[in-house]
Parts: sequence; C-alpha cells; structure tokens
Amino acid sequence: MERAVNFNAGPAAIPLEVLKEAQGELLDWKATGMSVMEVSHRSKEYEALHNEAQERFRRLAGMGSEWKVLFLTGGASSQFFMLPMNYLAEGRKASYLVTGSWSKAALKEARRFGACAEISSENPGGGFTRILKTSELDIPSDSTYVHLTSNNTIFGTQWKTWPDTRGVPLVCDMSSDIFSRPFPAGDFSLIYAGAQKNLGPSGLTLVALREDFLARAKTKDQLPTMLSYRVHEEHNSLYNTPPCFSIYMLDLTLRWLEKNGGLKVMGRLNEEKATLVYKAIDSSSGFYRNPVERESRSSMNIVFRLPSPEAEEGFVKEAKAAGIIGVKGHRSVGGIRFSIYNASSLDNVKTAVSFMEDFKKRRG
Ligand SMILES: *Cc1c(COP(=O)(O)O)cnc(C)c1O
Repeated sequence: MERAVNFNAGPAAIPLEVLKEAQGELLDWKATGMSVMEVSHRSKEYEALHNEAQERFRRLAGMGSEWKVLFLTGGASSQFFMLPMNYLAEGRKASYLVTGSWSKAALKEARRFGACAEISSENPGGGFTRILKTSELDIPSDSTYVHLTSNNTIFGTQWKTWPDTRGVPLVCDMSSDIFSRPFPAGDFSLIYAGAQKNLGPSGLTLVALREDFLARAKTKDQLPTMLSYRVHEEHNSLYNTPPCFSIYMLDLTLRWLEKNGGLKVMGRLNEEKATLVYKAIDSSSGFYRNPVERESRSSMNIVFRLPSPEAEEGFVKEAKAAGIIGVKGHRSVGGIRFSIYNASSLDNVKTAVSFMEDFKKRRG
C-alpha cells in the first residue's frame, strides 16, 4: 500500500495511526459487536465517548469548565449565520475583521441579522495578501462581538498575534488552523471550526463557547430549536442525533495530539514544516513566488505562483505523478497551495520540497 503525500485543503489528511485504530475497531467497537456507526447515540458506550471527546478538547485547548463544547453539523459555514442569529437583534451590532474569502462570507451572512462594522485588509484591486495591522483595529466598543478568521485557507495568511478588543467578546473561525499551535483561550469568547481540516473527517462542526458569552445569547423561544446554542448546550449536543462517527474520529485525533505532545509541540513542528517550504520558495530566484506579506504568512496553507499558468499546470500534474496530491490552488485564486495541517508529516513536507527543487531544475 502506498499512502499519498496528501496536501488537500479539506477534507484533508488524517494521521495514519488514527485511521488504523478506526480500522481495527470498525466491526466491533468496545466489545459491543457493532461499529461505532451502528450503536445508539443514547447508549452508555457512546455517551462516554462523547463526553471524553469534549473533555479532551478542553484539556488540549487549556479551557476550564466555564467552556462549553458543542458538537454541531452544517459545517463552519452554518456558523456564519448561527452566530449572528444567536447574538444580533435590533439595536445590537457586530464587528467583522475581514482578511479573506471566509471572513467575507461570514460578514455577508451576519448582515442579514443586524448592523455590522467591517474592518478589511482587502487590496484596492481585490484579493488579500495580509492580515490587519494593530493600527487598523479600531473596533467599535459597542459591538456585541468581534469576529475574525485565524487562518485564511485560500489566501494563505494567518493571524500571528491576537487583537486587543478592549473588552469586546472575541469570536474566531479557527477552521483551518485549530490546534495547530497554542492559543490563549482566555482571550476568546467563542471559537468554531469545521473538523475536516485539522481534527478529523467532515460532518462535524465544533463550537466552544464560554458560559458568560452563552448567557448573552438569545433565548430558546426566539430561535428555531436546532439553531439555538442554548438548546445544544442544555442537551449536551444530544438534542438530536449527532455525527457519531465523526465525533469518534475526533476523539482518536485528539488522543493522537495528546500522545504527540499537544499544541506546543504541534506548533513547533508546523513552524518547522512551513519554514522548509517558504525557504524553498525564497531561495528559488523568483521561480516560485509567495504573494503574501512576510509577517502574514500562514504555516498551514502555503500559496505560491510559478512563472506561467502552463508551468503551474505542469507542476500539479508532475506532483500527482510523484504521489503528491491536492496542490492546486483554490479555484478562485489559482496558483499552487500546499495545505500542511497537523497530519502532514515532516517527511511528507520534505518530499514535497525535494520535488519543488527538482521541478525547478528541470523547468527553471
Ligand atoms: C473550510 C473553511 C470554512 C468552510 O467550512 P465548511 O465546514 O465547509 O462549511 C470556513 N472557514 C474557514 C476558515 C475554512 O477554512
């Protein structure tokens, strides 16, 4: 069996150990004689797993019991409207720090539910190549929350420090860099992420929110039941059938993270991986070009251009032949993108960097 060097942006690589564990338990999970996909979500075996995954998530994130961890569905994209539905109303406003396509999409949804202030780093000619500067962060103090996207999956930029919101609750879409590095949980009020980039398979959306922020959400009677954070918290994310298999895979992935040293070790490793790729770009005498401002460079999604669209096409094709897949940039921006999430090993990144050097020698 030959495993691909998988740089897919999402769904993305899952650690081989995790897949093997799931394979081993596929037909008989916890001596039930059933797969985890076949047991009742009301069974004691499932409930133990559910609670364990929440506990592990909090432990890895350094979150105390004041944090509620919800297992929802509908992808991160559903949080774009669920969040403002729960918090915005007549006379309430939110602020959005827009640094890429996903934060733009989040803002568009929020505007349906209330007034929104936009602070954007979009280039005059369109597109994004940087994160906002501290001097640009004039967040209106009457905001119910301020929303940002920690890593811009499409444009390859990432927040390296967190803004001082001067007391305004900070909400973060962490879909493409959650648990890729340590972060100060205490600075945030709510974080969310689709699981399919760094935490397992698709179908599960994680929302973690602090008690004091939950207390400011709309009440149950003001919202459709399934769209109320309060309902999901009160029912421990078991109001309806949760995505049991994805939660099981999350738990295995979190276990793998703990075994491998947690977020600090992961952060160092991800830096090391990203540095290798950026070095290959920067030392290519302009053959490879990263369009992003240096201080804003993402360690998760590394984007670069080649001298021509033909060269880029050739790069994708030859990479695939060499077993390196998922390197085509997002259809909205083109170019090349390496998505090197937690499950992309240092060895895989080294293989890809060798391929880059070799390709340049042949085509440069
Ligand atoms: C992938 C992604 C999304 C969309 O996630 P879905 O789960 O497909 O809805 C949202 N935000 C960011 C930052 C992403 O990377």
